[in-house]
Amino acid sequence: MRVTFPHMGNLYIPLKAMLNYLEVDVVVPPPSSKKTLNLGVKHGPEFACMPLKLNLGNFIEAREMGADTIIMAGGCGPCRFGYYAQIEHAILKDIGCDMQLIVLEPPEKNISELIVKMKKITGSRSWWQVIQAIRFGYQKALAVDEMEKTAFQVRPREAKPGATDRAFSEALTLIDNAASQVELAEARKKADTIMAGVARKHGAPVVRIAVIGEIYTLLEPFSNHRLERHLGLLGVEVDRSIYLSEWVNDHLLFGLVKNLRSSKDACASASPYLCHFVGGHGQETVGSAVNYALAGYDGIIQVYPFTCMPEIVAQSILPGVGSDYDIPILTLIMDEHTGEAGLQTRLEAFIDLLARRKETREAVNR
Ligand code: SF4
Repeated sequence: MRVTFPHMGNLYIPLKAMLNYLEVDVVVPPPSSKKTLNLGVKHGPEFACMPLKLNLGNFIEAREMGADTIIMAGGCGPCRFGYYAQIEHAILKDIGCDMQLIVLEPPEKNISELIVKMKKITGSRSWWQVIQAIRFGYQKALAVDEMEKTAFQVRPREAKPGATDRAFSEALTLIDNAASQVELAEARKKADTIMAGVARKHGAPVVRIAVIGEIYTLLEPFSNHRLERHLGLLGVEVDRSIYLSEWVNDHLLFGLVKNLRSSKDACASASPYLCHFVGGHGQETVGSAVNYALAGYDGIIQVYPFTCMPEIVAQSILPGVGSDYDIPILTLIMDEHTGEAGLQTRLEAFIDLLARRKETREAVNR
């Protein structure tokens, strides 16, 4: 069995670590690219959202590298994600890429359901080994998220353009290469030192923007044209409404790890604008906008793939949040036709607006 999975940002690092720990043969698809998207667009339904098309492209490329089994997350309505695994599997079969499919549905009651599902992939490994593998993968997810958060802080202040990107990529490689918990602890220390070593300009004005929206488009930089990097290079400190480790803790580990931000808080803050689940992360998007406004952010960017129903619901509500809390909100909708140059222009205009608002406020308060 040669197992593959779709890309979603740096998810490949913890997932590969977990599977390698259990001695499963893993094929990581090439990073998502124009070729990946073209494959997905060619074989996927036209009006499917971009995650389906990119997943499909990832699987076709992994198949070319010898993968024969797919691990894919499942889900439940009202958004379409719940049946994507089956649709993608059927499309692959039609085009002659017949692969075994293992769907990991989010556990409903407790973490033991996840362990039982993992055992299906790992066969003879003991329960203890499976638990240790999940723990190891999760520690890598935490380490990767820490590096990402540091990069968001450093990038707008870097003295030499590109220094943060180089340090971040070095830090990620160290974390990715760690083969045991001891090695990972060592890698985290070295990675912290590398990130701390990026020379910074002091006193440069920095605008703070929160990026919220659909999880896949938030986490996969290819699907959002490396939005966070663009913002950082334009002098913006970014925060994102969801990190991989938070999602895993909320949905797979049932909040086992304490002191992490939870989607429950975001959902609670969505009231009175949106008091019920609308699928995907629609409710979290609205609640996160409220939380970021209260935290004093200068602006918010909502990002989602064309035709994403939960985010369309959230988008229709966000202008009300923006006017109640006096915070500008920009919505970016991504699909295979979105161009990077147009995106850059919109970002520059938005940042310009936020910087001028900030200046005026600071002048009034002086
Ligand atoms: S949340 Fe949106 S983008 Fe994600 S699968 Fe559902 S409809 Fe598609």
